[in-house]
Amino acid sequence: MFHLARGKGFRTRINPPALIVATSIVLAVAIAGLGAVALMQMRRDAIEHASQASSNLALTLERSITRNLQIYELSIHGVTDAVQDPQIMALTPSVRQRLLFDWSMNAEDMGSLLVTDAHGDLVLDSRIWPPRPVNVADRDYFQAHLKSPTAGVFVSQPFQPRMTADNKSIGISRRLSAPDGSFAGIVVGTLRLNYFRKLFDGMILGPRGSLTLVHTDGTIVMRRPYEDASIGRNISSSPSFAPLLKGENGTFLGTAALDGMERLYSFRRVPGFPLIVVVGLSVDDVLAPWRARAWLSAALIAAMDVLVIALSVLLSLQWRRRMDIERHLRLMVDTDGLTGLGSRRALDDAADLEWRRARRHNQSLSLLMVDVDHFKQFNDRYGHLAGDDALASVARCIQQTIRRPGDFAGRYGGEEFAILLPSTEAAGAVAVAETIRAAVQAMQIPNAGSTFGELTISIGAVTDTTDASGGRTFADLRAFLRAADEALYQSKRTGRNRVASADATVTAIMAI
Ligand code: GH3
Ligand code: MG
Ligand code: MG
Repeated sequence: MFHLARGKGFRTRINPPALIVATSIVLAVAIAGLGAVALMQMRRDAIEHASQASSNLALTLERSITRNLQIYELSIHGVTDAVQDPQIMALTPSVRQRLLFDWSMNAEDMGSLLVTDAHGDLVLDSRIWPPRPVNVADRDYFQAHLKSPTAGVFVSQPFQPRMTADNKSIGISRRLSAPDGSFAGIVVGTLRLNYFRKLFDGMILGPRGSLTLVHTDGTIVMRRPYEDASIGRNISSSPSFAPLLKGENGTFLGTAALDGMERLYSFRRVPGFPLIVVVGLSVDDVLAPWRARAWLSAALIAAMDVLVIALSVLLSLQWRRRMDIERHLRLMVDTDGLTGLGSRRALDDAADLEWRRARRHNQSLSLLMVDVDHFKQFNDRYGHLAGDDALASVARCIQQTIRRPGDFAGRYGGEEFAILLPSTEAAGAVAVAETIRAAVQAMQIPNAGSTFGELTISIGAVTDTTDASGGRTFADLRAFLRAADEALYQSKRTGRNRVASADATVTAIMAI
């Protein structure tokens, strides 16, 4: 076909429909990325708030427990001092009972304050005089002071009291020393674990949260949710226990030893006692509101992304369709329907373009004007349809001859054609013209109305080039076209079926 080298580069390099889809994908990824960052920030905030809440709860519990244990320890201290005072011990039992064991001993969940001799037999009992016939030598609190004079204030393991059907209790004990420093027995106060249970139950906690009071040796003293079996259980080998010994207080994420649930833990050491308060908020509870919001946001973001991409795909499809239609329309406008050569419009554009290009690059430009000989007679004799076929055949001869890139052939009008030959000198143009002329004659299409008896063409050739003085042959495109017309006329005038060149250096007329 013909070659049109007009502004092709830009359109082929950048493809707007693909660019739209690519941009929308980048946009969708950016939206999703921003959403993800915002959601992660919200998640961090939720954990941060929960960690503050659990720290506060741990502090509240620790303060309350510390206060009560300190009061109890003071009572034990008082009894320890008193029993080593011979004057007090000399008082009558009822007065002595009242002096030793004040009313605080009757507070709720306080057990008994007991004093034993070096064998573990009770010698004083806050509940009653004479003391109940009980021996506590096998209890850990008795053994601890028996074995070590420096045990100080000892907090025992949870145990079931022997004398009453009380709930489980712990004992807080001190050593009694004889004047010579030898072991003389202990003073022990028992505290019902119910105290801690009630304290824990009063706290507002998520549905899967936990509260634990644990001995520094790993023994569970109290736990919420309450389970009888877990009281007294040792969790020192569990991975979530080790961090509790790392400081006075702290916060960490861990898996519960008792129920395997992931929790956010805050712990506080009870000062002066080997006890640790641990608040565990279930990560699931903490993140539940966030999760609900995150799902909703993620769904909205995903919907938005899908919408953005879908719209861009639709838009790009429309765009592509429009580009196809445009391309098709351009092709229709630029092509002559009968011959498949360039249309008159395309020919005008090409002539203008090549004219300017030749001037810019200082190159020669040749033009062939072709006219079918005695075509009126051809039509008259064989009919217009045969005439159309003959024109198409001539166009084929032209097309098959001009093969160089940049060569352009168009239908000038009626049975006239024009051929632009860039970078072609006069001699070359005449040679191309002669090839076309010969090719048409070689088809041997009969034309009885012609003096040649067959279909022939006449061609006028012109060349615009730079002469010795540096000037161009023609002043402008119109003069160039007019000269081609004149050359064609010359070829008609001198007998038809020939090529006439306007160039003086080329043999003026080429006879058959
Ligand atoms: P000359 O050798 O001097 O060129 O003689 P001619 O008969 O070709 O004269 P002219 O160029 O004036 O005649 C052109 C004729 O070409 C007129 C018209 O009948 C015919 N023609 C023009 N366009 C078409 C076309 O598209 N189809 C057909 N079949 N005939 C056409
Ligand atoms: Mg004509
Ligand atoms: Mg003609």
